[in-house]
Amino acid sequence: VISFQNINKWYGDFQALKNINLTITRGEKLVICGPSGSGKSTLIRCINGLEQFSEGQLEVAGHSLNAQHLKRIRGQVGMVFQHFNLFPHMTVRENLTLAPRRTRKMNKQDADQLAMEYLERVHIAHQADKYPAQLSGGQQQRVAIARSLCMKPDILLFDEPTSALDPEMIREVLDVMTELAEEGMTMICVTHEMGFARKVADRVVFMDEGEIVEVAPPAQLFDAPKHPRTQLFLEQIL
Ligand code: ATP
Ligand code: MG
Repeated sequence: VISFQNINKWYGDFQALKNINLTITRGEKLVICGPSGSGKSTLIRCINGLEQFSEGQLEVAGHSLNAQHLKRIRGQVGMVFQHFNLFPHMTVRENLTLAPRRTRKMNKQDADQLAMEYLERVHIAHQADKYPAQLSGGQQQRVAIARSLCMKPDILLFDEPTSALDPEMIREVLDVMTELAEEGMTMICVTHEMGFARKVADRVVFMDEGEIVEVAPPAQLFDAPKHPRTQLFLEQIL
């Protein structure tokens, strides 16, 4: 459902992605890990066009990612960010109904119903009329996940969704992500939550200095990494 072919990306004369080749199948759960600055965010942001790549071919959901298909692809790819990115002046419900009403032209009643359905899915329906600042970080992130789901994406991207959270709130967000995974969503998650990766990921990608160094199922990558750079990284974080 996603295919990177010889993708290169430069920021000025700095090369952030180096010859990326990667195919992700429908329903796959992929975890991306690697040191700070290794290009993880750049890689996943290419998938919904938040970053433009410089060279190569990227196909998402059957379409080549270019200006012509960008809008359609964005409609199929949801993204959850480290810092939630909720609209602070809107209630939870309004955050969820905004995009369906604007871009899907849904009426208020249908959009509200959809919002409540997804708030229930992330176990937070009773907070619908609060503002983001009145919620905990873990609750805000679950709202952000529900907001993505309201657009009925085929693919969900997560960029360090738990790294801004206090430890006791990480669990509740990972639980929701695990439930989504079990429902068959195609998920690409930048995270250093190894427990989550072991339980949920089909494959783990290790990136360093803009390159994909190693790709393997979690048990293999974490317990028997082949590449010295992967070994060094795992020693540092474990
Ligand atoms: P982190 O774990 O800290 O989030 P990352 O693996 O997500 O890191 P990226 O954000 O993808 O790394 O950045 C990769 C490299 O590209 C970094 O060296 C970064 O400084 C550089 N970079 C990212 N965005 C820009 C930009 N807009 N302009 C110039 N350089 C950038
Ligand atoms: Mg990043």
